[in-house]
Amino acid sequence: MKKRAKQLSFLKNVVKLAIIMAVFIAAAVSAAQGKLRESEPILRVKIGGMHQKISIALPGGGEILNHKGRKIRTIRGKSGFTWAIGSGKRKKRVEHLNETLTFAGRKNQVTLNGKIYRGRMLVKFTNTGAIAVNHVGIEDYLRGVVGSEMGSMSPAESLKAQTVIARTYAYANRGKHGSEGADVCDSTHCQVYQGILAERESINKAVDGTRGIIMISEGKPIQALYHATCGGMTSDNDKVFGGTACSYLRRVICPFCKDSAHFRWVKTLNLNEFKSAMAKENIHFNHLIDLGYESPGLMDRVDKVFLVTDKGEFSVKGTTFRRLFDLKSTTFTLGNRKNVKAVISAAAVIKPESEPDNDRVQIVLAGMGETATDGPAQLIIQTAKGLKRVTRPETGWQTVVCRQISEIEPADSVLLSRNEMTRSSASGQIEKIEIFGRGYGHQVGLCQSGAIELGKRNWSYRQILPFYYSNVALRQLGY
Ligand SMILES: [Zn+2]
Ligand SMILES: [Zn+2]
Repeated sequence: MKKRAKQLSFLKNVVKLAIIMAVFIAAAVSAAQGKLRESEPILRVKIGGMHQKISIALPGGGEILNHKGRKIRTIRGKSGFTWAIGSGKRKKRVEHLNETLTFAGRKNQVTLNGKIYRGRMLVKFTNTGAIAVNHVGIEDYLRGVVGSEMGSMSPAESLKAQTVIARTYAYANRGKHGSEGADVCDSTHCQVYQGILAERESINKAVDGTRGIIMISEGKPIQALYHATCGGMTSDNDKVFGGTACSYLRRVICPFCKDSAHFRWVKTLNLNEFKSAMAKENIHFNHLIDLGYESPGLMDRVDKVFLVTDKGEFSVKGTTFRRLFDLKSTTFTLGNRKNVKAVISAAAVIKPESEPDNDRVQIVLAGMGETATDGPAQLIIQTAKGLKRVTRPETGWQTVVCRQISEIEPADSVLLSRNEMTRSSASGQIEKIEIFGRGYGHQVGLCQSGAIELGKRNWSYRQILPFYYSNVALRQLGY
């Protein structure tokens, strides 16, 4: 009996020790995790605009802190915080006027007006409304962003490319909403951020798989612009937005988006639609005699559209023309179907059949030397068609990120002659306008349809990104 009791007490001690050790290990692990979370940079994201009403809940409870970080209220379980601004004649006293309160949940989660976010919520109360700013770890922020910018069903490497773009955007635009106490906002003005509801497993993997990685040029995070579909080639930033040319936002040929629904598009307008849209620009006429446009090339960016009418000649900017008719892009051509077919086949450079030689275009080499004999005689290179053995060309290795061209065939001005438009047989005036275009979006930077196709072809994000952004480097931030 005695022996048994001794054994039991020994066992008890072993169990006690195991429990103590388990608690110790758990504490050490959570301390390490806590440290990890602390060192991850915090991004301040403005949620919505001026809120007239605020309703906040802290799942699992938490506390409200004042601007000095002192606890002013504990929130338990399902209780919450509500606030509304007085309106109309019975203007009430604004509660918490000019105060900023911090809502900190025990689970590091907070619900604002029914939407749940990671991190904390800071709310500033003013007499015109409340400004809510979510303080969230940058990696947690990305979990709620990437799925809104690219479908979560996209290939894993394409999602990683989009994640690096979103992270780079966040770093490059810190303080963009500084006057509102935020870095970025949650709308298309910056990047659409939907919080926890938008999180998906595939997105989380892309975020974890690229943790801390951004694109830099000359030591700074780049302005990583992207668009839905380029339609055969992207555009230089300065040609689209004006301003100075950016070394990494150069035109590249992208044949990879040709299966996209927006690769080519057609829009037909009748004369009445055309007239009423032009009236918004203060252009009034009865008869449209001729229509022409100015563009650097065929089916390239349209800078200006010219109208010859019975009330005189007018012109509108290509970007205005796009907005007036809700066109997918400013790269289009005007004319009748038959004529446009001939025009497009003449523009061989953007014909889908003219897809550049994959093996040549997709080679990414850097710093292989200055002369023709520098560097190794052979290289194994990752191409879209798999690994390829390539011998040194006679001209030597070059730094090739992708084929870049500054402009396609120059054509100062294209004025279509009378018989190229659909005209009324009686009056000879234009009665139907057909617009043929390529691509969707501003066409600067990465083409998402192309990036998705490249992901399907097993390109890694480290290959996809330098294809669209010239001369950039990836940097791993240390957290
Ligand atoms: Zn914004
Ligand atoms: Zn493309």
